[in-house]
Formats: sequence, C-alpha cells, structure tokens
Amino acid sequence: MPPSLHTAVVTCMDSRIDVFALFGLKIGEVHVLRNAGGVITDDVIRSLSISQRMLDTRDVLLVQHSGCGLATFTDDDFSEALAEETGMRPPWRTHAFRDPRVSVRRDVAQLRHDPFLHPDTRVRGFVLDIESFVLDEVLIGDEDELRGSVPS
Ligand SMILES: [Zn+2]
Repeated sequence: MPPSLHTAVVTCMDSRIDVFALFGLKIGEVHVLRNAGGVITDDVIRSLSISQRMLDTRDVLLVQHSGCGLATFTDDDFSEALAEETGMRPPWRTHAFRDPRVSVRRDVAQLRHDPFLHPDTRVRGFVLDIESFVLDEVLIGDEDELRGSVPS
C-alpha cells in the first residue's frame, strides 16, 4: 500500500523517538526506516529504492538527533573492540559521528547524489533535540558551508 503522503522518514532506532508523534503522522501516511543513528547505508538505499519505485514515495525526511549513541564512540574503536573479542573485523562501518548536524549534511548530500533514487526525490534533513523534541532543519545550501570548511 503506497503511503498517502508519498514520504519516507529515515531516523534513529533510539527508543525515545516516536516518529508518528514527532511529525503528527497517522498510520498509512509514511514509510519509516530506522537503524542505529538514522544513517544512510546500502540497506537504507535499498529500502528507499523499493519505496520509490514500487510504492511511489518521493519525499525523504532524514532525522538524526542530539544525545545519540553513535556520538559516544568512534568507528575505529568499535571495530577494534569487536575484532579483539571475535577475531574478525566487521565488514561494515558503524557510521559513528560527533556532530549530528555534520552527519545529517553528509547524508543529505549522499541521498541527493545517489544514482538509484528517483530524479524527483526531495530530501530534507533535521536534527532532533532529544531533550526538548524540537526539530531543527539543516537547510539547503549548508553543503557549501561543509565544503568551505574543508581546507583545500
Ligand atoms: Zn540515536
């Protein structure tokens, strides 16, 4: 059944986040994709592609948040600890981040350039303040800010 708002929401698995309450949504209106961090992985692209091609969604709302568990470790430390315990390094990355705004900006940029998403895809990124539950939109054009902050 196609979601009536033609929208997919990507967000963190954090147990404090009620996606439907956050956006005032009802059952049947959106697809909800959740993982640790609400980050863009190959599997998120897989689900978004199916959501778009088979169930006619176009808008993507990406929501990451303050106080996220993914800001409490680094990718290297996590992989190293797993490798020490299991003897194997995981083939995937954790996508750990320090600043959710930077992470949202990167993931929005990645979605906008993904070759498998529909050309008419509209992507908006937000950081949710986990204390106040206020959504702060990471605005279009912030990509330039990110590019500008990289020393050339
Ligand atoms: Zn989180």
